Amino acid sequence: MNWLYSRKLKMKERILTGDRPTGPLHLGHFVGSLQQRVTLQHSHDQTILVADLQALTDNGQNPQKISDNILNVVADYLAVGIDPEKTTICLQSALPALSELTMYYSNLVSIARLERNPTVKNEIHYRGFGKTIPAGFLTYPISQAADITAFRATQVPVGDDQLPMIEQTNEIVRRFNSVVHDQVLCECRAMLSHFPRLPGIDGKAKMSKSLGTAISLGATANEIRKAVKAMYTDPNHLRIDDPGQTEGNVVFTYLDAFHPDKTFVEELKAHYRRGGLGDGKTKQILEDCLQSMLDPIRAERERLLADKAMLIEVLRAGTEKANTVSQGVLLDVKRALGIALF
Ligand code: ATP
Ligand code: MG
Repeated sequence: MNWLYSRKLKMKERILTGDRPTGPLHLGHFVGSLQQRVTLQHSHDQTILVADLQALTDNGQNPQKISDNILNVVADYLAVGIDPEKTTICLQSALPALSELTMYYSNLVSIARLERNPTVKNEIHYRGFGKTIPAGFLTYPISQAADITAFRATQVPVGDDQLPMIEQTNEIVRRFNSVVHDQVLCECRAMLSHFPRLPGIDGKAKMSKSLGTAISLGATANEIRKAVKAMYTDPNHLRIDDPGQTEGNVVFTYLDAFHPDKTFVEELKAHYRRGGLGDGKTKQILEDCLQSMLDPIRAERERLLADKAMLIEVLRAGTEKANTVSQGVLLDVKRALGIALF
């Protein structure tokens, strides 16, 4: 790709987003990002990265967990309606430009800055890393900056845990451009969905694959039932007649996120607050809602997973396209640094 062509790409509105293949995608992804991607693919030039390199940064001892989940994530995308004709779906580890860009950007970020990143801090805490934190994990925000800039993304649909990553990416972009005295890289902005942080079924941190608090898109009817039964409600709502609290009550948070009839949910909340509505009843309403929403997704997912060759081909074809774009940006970066001699 020549310099002029790759520069022209900057003019287009482009989206880059992605997911770590650390497990099947869940309801948090669905409201936090997947639904938005399904809409955006019609109006934007969208690339979705299966971030296996990033997933390995905190699963270095267990690569099989990552390799096992790559095609699961691709099946999840297709099952919710992401169309590979409209969206480029690609595999991070098969895009060498991303690793090369990470190396160049690493020289522009201090260890102190990485340690201050609030998302990384939080994740270190939850994963119990302490001083044993893998170097790759500490520096993954830099690799995320490489992912975003390699596609000249201007918009990044994410959950709110990713806001510090966008900030760090833009810092790298400004620093690089100022070092080379040219606008080679472009800044991006986060696009938050209407539900940027779905809590886990325990009501504590965000729903997360790694924390085991997720309901996956492929969950069986029984798994959904068990998860809803185990949900955190209002610990002071002991008798049905007691007035209950809906804030921080996971059942109502999920009803807000997933129930199609918002007026009904508001009436239900008012009833719960007055008293006379039991958790068994509200959980049953939520379970019915989740079962009917996830039923067709699970069936489609199973159908897709039966054809692994097709899923691999979707990923291969998308990665080929993504390689062309990202190699062009890498060349721009090397030229700007004055090291592209041949
Ligand atoms: P892991 O625990 O391995 O980090 P994860 O469940 O956090 O996995 P990611 O692959 O890290 O999932 O996240 C992919 C995208 O989905 C990100 O944009 C993230 O902000 C969004 N996301 C993840 N969990 C939630 C959630 N509970 N609510 C809203 N958005 C979410
Ligand atoms: Mg995560």
